[in-house]
Amino acid sequence: KKTDNQMLVIFGASGDLTARKLIPALFNLYVAKQLPENFIVLGASRSDMSDEEFRNRVVYDSPYLKSKIEDLKENYLKGFTNMFFYEDLGSDYTAEYSGLAKRIEALNASKGTDSNYIFYFSTPPSLYEPIAKNLAEVGLNNQELGWKRLIVEKPFGYSLETAKNLNKGLQQYFKESQIYRIDHYLGKETVQNLLVTRFSNSIFEPLWNRNYIHHVEITNAESVGVEKRGGYYDKSGALRDMFQNHLMQIVSLVVMEPPIGNEPEEIRNEKVKALKSLRIMRDEQTLFGNTIRAQYVASEINGESVKGYREEDGVNSDSTTETYAAIKFYVDNWRWHGVPFYVRTAKRMPTKVTEVIIHFKTPHHQIFSDSGLNSKDNKLIIRIQPDEGILMKFGVKVPGQGFKVERANLDFYYSSLAETYVMEAYERLLLDAMQGDATLYARADEVEAAWEFVDPILDYWKNGKDVRMYGYAAGVWGPENADELIEDFGYWRNPGEN
Ligand code: NAP
Repeated sequence: KKTDNQMLVIFGASGDLTARKLIPALFNLYVAKQLPENFIVLGASRSDMSDEEFRNRVVYDSPYLKSKIEDLKENYLKGFTNMFFYEDLGSDYTAEYSGLAKRIEALNASKGTDSNYIFYFSTPPSLYEPIAKNLAEVGLNNQELGWKRLIVEKPFGYSLETAKNLNKGLQQYFKESQIYRIDHYLGKETVQNLLVTRFSNSIFEPLWNRNYIHHVEITNAESVGVEKRGGYYDKSGALRDMFQNHLMQIVSLVVMEPPIGNEPEEIRNEKVKALKSLRIMRDEQTLFGNTIRAQYVASEINGESVKGYREEDGVNSDSTTETYAAIKFYVDNWRWHGVPFYVRTAKRMPTKVTEVIIHFKTPHHQIFSDSGLNSKDNKLIIRIQPDEGILMKFGVKVPGQGFKVERANLDFYYSSLAETYVMEAYERLLLDAMQGDATLYARADEVEAAWEFVDPILDYWKNGKDVRMYGYAAGVWGPENADELIEDFGYWRNPGEN
């Protein structure tokens, strides 16, 4: 695909995300010769920095580039570094942008970026709308001479209402087709591979429905606690931080119907339809029986004591923010009627892992049932991280007398495609936006549909009667009570188990 000459303007360029993710992604694109001939980055924030200081900060002194640039020839590295410029926004992102507009114009003229601009919003979310407004006021939303795009970071809204307001707010100044809402999970190869696995093979899709699938399980586990983000996390929680965005994206790819083609809007239409078919839980009894929340408590991992969530810096000592969430739900459409989905996400788990498990039904007539293994144990496991790949579990005969059945694995690892360079999520997503491909970005209605489902759960957890909050020790797979959610249909499959 062609990548037009362009300028990337990053708001919040002095921040963590810029240094940790965006600049390394751009560096990889530079090395892979994926950047257009004329390309520059203009960092913008309130910090007082010269171009030179910005270059030092994000390239030469960056801990995130250190290992990548160590052995590079000075000239080659200069080629990269010279792409970076910086504009001080003064004391406030909401003050007017005539100075910024002038700088952009001057750089555009001298660097030949053809008036094509991406504005990357990497600031606190409360600034997204004010920045869009200010850009529009100085005409930087105008596409007569070149295209203009926004990339908006997560979190996108705090609730259905705030997400709707943010959509409305941004759409006052930019068209929906100009707005790219980033969800870095969609930049992961294995998440995209869900589409390919399903729709480019003839062996899975015929089974991908209520006739053959018993239940679907999605686990997202992090081994770390809230680390230095206690203050941020305490206002957010597992459901907002992981479930509403990343996990709902994965759910939509598992649930969706085949799109008629691979055009962005066709894929996104199907994802929205999928999200709209999730059965929203509205009454307290349903919410009580189908949602579990918990917090990690002070405990020991490998002999080392770790703080409980409520003791973490920045966290309220009587916080009711969940660090563990498990939700059971159904999908009300023809394909999925009656198939339960179990999705859990948590911090301080024994390991870091994200995987989707499709559990297939038992054959209706059991011939080898005395072996203790049946094909309820047929599983398709899509590992999203780490060890990206796909694992299929099925029964095979144990050599010898009788018909004893053992489980065998067909295992594919992405890393075995050693010859193929696997792009990192931000790298892939940035390049897509630079090329105007929004397939892997969330559309307004998609984000709202996800919030529609999540909002009543959050509301119940905040305001409901008799809402339980469980505790779990760091380093275990969550509270035992979460087993009650799934026991009618199976058990949580913890990674590494059969
Ligand atoms: P950050 O370091 O806290 O903030 C980015 C920049 O915004 C700061 O350098 C600061 O620049 C400006 N800023 C911070 N607080 C501000 C305030 N109260 N008022 C005005 N400006 C303020 O954030 P970040 O970690 O880079 O994240 C940026 C965005 O990406 C956030 O929306 C975050 O939720 C999202 N995000 C981050 C990560 C990550 O890994 N860091 C991951 C996913 C999403 P100046 O003071 O120089 O203006």
